[in-house]
Amino acid sequence: METISSPGAMAAWADRVRARGETICLVPTMGFFHAGHLALMRRAGEAADAVVVSLFVNPLQFGPTEDLARYPRALARDAELAAAAGAAVLFVPATEEVYPAGFATTVRVSGLTETLCGRSRPGHFDGVTTVVAKLFHMVKPHLAVFGEKDFQQLAVIRKMVADLNLDVQIISHPIVREEDGLAMSSRNTYLSREERGKALCLFRSLQLARERVAAGEKDAARLRNEIYQYIQSYGDVSVDYVALVDAETLADCDAITDRSLLALAVKIGRTRLIDNGLLAGSLF
Ligand code: AMP
Repeated sequence: METISSPGAMAAWADRVRARGETICLVPTMGFFHAGHLALMRRAGEAADAVVVSLFVNPLQFGPTEDLARYPRALARDAELAAAAGAAVLFVPATEEVYPAGFATTVRVSGLTETLCGRSRPGHFDGVTTVVAKLFHMVKPHLAVFGEKDFQQLAVIRKMVADLNLDVQIISHPIVREEDGLAMSSRNTYLSREERGKALCLFRSLQLARERVAAGEKDAARLRNEIYQYIQSYGDVSVDYVALVDAETLADCDAITDRSLLALAVKIGRTRLIDNGLLAGSLF
């Protein structure tokens, strides 16, 4: 595996691969790899001839009071893991190369970005779409893999790709979980022992909601309220949102159908965790 840090060298590498008639699949990440990232990389390897993993902690997608400065980093370990998962290139551009002085362009998807995480993290998705559009131009992938853990991000990126006629096929990958159900996240490393226990409220909420729906619950408002109370019962947790939305449009649902997704964002201490899942059927 090669590690490339210059955008020019990255684009030249992509041109050479494309000239040979081979396909490229990009896995955009912020590093500190866990089994979720590695599953995305392996999926990318099934889909294309060459896998590029980008590792860039994107300042544009962090709010002023968020965890940019303390976001966990482990470049040497990440390089070993990406190589073992079959990546041909680890692309690690410097912030100044991605956003040179005077950088003044933003890619913004309206509508989908205004609810859920977009409401509590203003500007977050503008940062995501801007950097992903740039990565697509630097890496020139035929395909790119994104995790369903960030389901709103996935919907926003699909919308950007459709609206801007970007020639990149988006592949989604199911959420990878710890043995006890906690969705893997680089941010789980922030959790104390006690907080790690409380963090299970997200996965258990999904299980509870699925049980209720399997038993016939159809009323989204009532179910939402029950899940909200359930999470509160853990104590010392703060609910950012509990939402029942259509998995594709992200519009709130009144009645639960096989398109209904339970989406959760909960702060455990200082750590904001998200999780989601369909309540019946499988759409993705
Ligand atoms: P991140 O490094 O957290 O920005 O995530 C990079 C990619 O990995 C994104 O497409 C995420 O949705 C995906 N991802 C993160 N955690 C998981 C997980 N537990 N399961 C599946 N995909 C994940």
